[in-house]
Amino acid sequence: MTKTYKIAVIPGDGIGKEVVPEGIRVLEAVGAKFDIAFQWDEKDWSCERWQATGRMMPEDALEGIRGHDGIFLGAVGWPTVPDHVSLWGLLIPIRREFRQYVNLRPVRLFEGVRSPLADRAPGDIDFMIVRENNEGEYSEMGGRLNKGTPDEVVIQENIFTRKGVDRVLRYAFDLAQSRPKKHLTSATKSNGIIHTMPFWDECFAAMAKDYPDIRTDQFHIDILTAHFVQHPDWFDVVVGSNLFGDILSDLGPAVTGTIGIAPSANLNPEREFPSMFEPVHGSAPDIAGQGIANPIGQIWSGAMMLDHLGHPEAARAIVAAIERLLAEKGPRTRDMGGTADTVAVGKALADLI
Ligand code: ATP
Ligand code: MG
Repeated sequence: MTKTYKIAVIPGDGIGKEVVPEGIRVLEAVGAKFDIAFQWDEKDWSCERWQATGRMMPEDALEGIRGHDGIFLGAVGWPTVPDHVSLWGLLIPIRREFRQYVNLRPVRLFEGVRSPLADRAPGDIDFMIVRENNEGEYSEMGGRLNKGTPDEVVIQENIFTRKGVDRVLRYAFDLAQSRPKKHLTSATKSNGIIHTMPFWDECFAAMAKDYPDIRTDQFHIDILTAHFVQHPDWFDVVVGSNLFGDILSDLGPAVTGTIGIAPSANLNPEREFPSMFEPVHGSAPDIAGQGIANPIGQIWSGAMMLDHLGHPEAARAIVAAIERLLAEKGPRTRDMGGTADTVAVGKALADLI
């Protein structure tokens, strides 16, 4: 029997509007093969909407999608709109309201893709970043005193809660447990940031006792970024706070060739609410409107959505098509050294499936 999922689609801004249709094309193709159907509920939530109405999304937006099975997002943000608007007017409300406290980002070097790191073979780089997605450094607590005066003071609080840290660490330990290498790395900066980061370290050490067969290590974020470049083969699962996880998950895809292929999942692991799937890249205003954006990050995010919905074999079919396209020198976009356009890559992947 065909299973049908209701998915909120938010193409957003810039290349988001170009890559989302390719994600849908590939999901439809794999759905036809695996008896999965989608009801796409498209939303115009975007900076364009903000410019017309003063809001990224309507006031009752989240109520309207609370019962959906997933959210498929392109990218939001535009140079004429202040940066914090798309983050605080759309992404953060969705991530928090739907308790998507895990941001999962695979980092993988594919055969047929050149890493900017010399002498790196595909098997060398294959790890997962688990970013805390609901609290930490991205907080609205703080403010400015004596604004504009020589005595100005600016405060930005970083908030960790025991529940918030434990639940994301639990997810990371369970993920490491499920992988052959069973290795988990934690990113902090406990020498400089002396309250929140040692607390994270404490929670990490305490939880490690529940997982005796997992090898754990911890690095300060500064040296960890160096290891990502010099020893990417050391890593299996890497867990970090909201800010540190964000930085690591731009660096990770960069060492595997292009940010254009990197996917992400904003997960509510308990499945009380819809999870959200989006490429790691942004709206890329510099190339928007030309039809040359790489759609693979969006398409791979669709695979992560299928995996979360309980269709790992359909998810694997998408990843296998990406592997083949890249290994067999199929059409590729400019960021990967090719000349194909966005639609050609989407169609080639749908055909492979
Ligand atoms: P955000 O703040 O939303 O994360 P950003 O400022 O980090 O955005 P991106 O929009 O991710 O920027 O773009 C960074 C660079 O990567 C740009 O030069 C852009 O053209 C390129 N880029 C991003 N995504 C793609 C893609 N899918 N295909 C090709 N190039 C891309
Ligand atoms: Mg970015």
